[in-house]
Amino acid sequence: MLDEIKGFGITLKRLAKPTATIAYPDEKRPMAERYRGLPSLRTDPETGEALCVACGLCARICPTSCLEMHVVPSEEGDRELGEFILRSGRCMFCGLCAQVCPVDAITMSDEYELSVTERDGLIYTKTELAAIGTQSAVWWEAGSGADDDSRLPRDGAYDRFREAVAENEYEKR
Ligand code: SF4
Ligand code: SF4
Repeated sequence: MLDEIKGFGITLKRLAKPTATIAYPDEKRPMAERYRGLPSLRTDPETGEALCVACGLCARICPTSCLEMHVVPSEEGDRELGEFILRSGRCMFCGLCAQVCPVDAITMSDEYELSVTERDGLIYTKTELAAIGTQSAVWWEAGSGADDDSRLPRDGAYDRFREAVAENEYEKR
């Protein structure tokens, strides 16, 4: 009998406190600023084009070889990104690809609802990754708020990397 009274007392105590649970998926908690969700591609806020300069560093450092990129000749005669594939079933969300990228073109999004019923759904293309990551914050610089403009690329910030790629300083894949 004493146990029942104690239990009822705990219930009464909790009634006066704010609810600790939420009605997921209708409600979602904000993710931690440096949460490592699905890797995604960032785009230039003005042109909408992917920031990726097709250097291939992310694919090389990826410990699970889940990134695949295709380089194509650009109209200007150098090279540019063709397709960019992420096989998310092999990704371990380590963030190395985002850390190594010289132009912050790939970042860890806060996307965590990744369940699919078909294996094909685990494969993300450049367009899909850009749709998820468009104008996302630079993940490893997170900490100053999601809409902090200082985390968007500054004009000309990455020109030296683009020039290096155009001059083939990065070995072609
Ligand atoms: S987060 Fe890690 S495992 Fe996933 S694509 Fe990037 S480097 Fe590869
Ligand atoms: S490291 Fe960055 S710039 Fe280089 S291929 Fe990967 S996403 Fe593109």
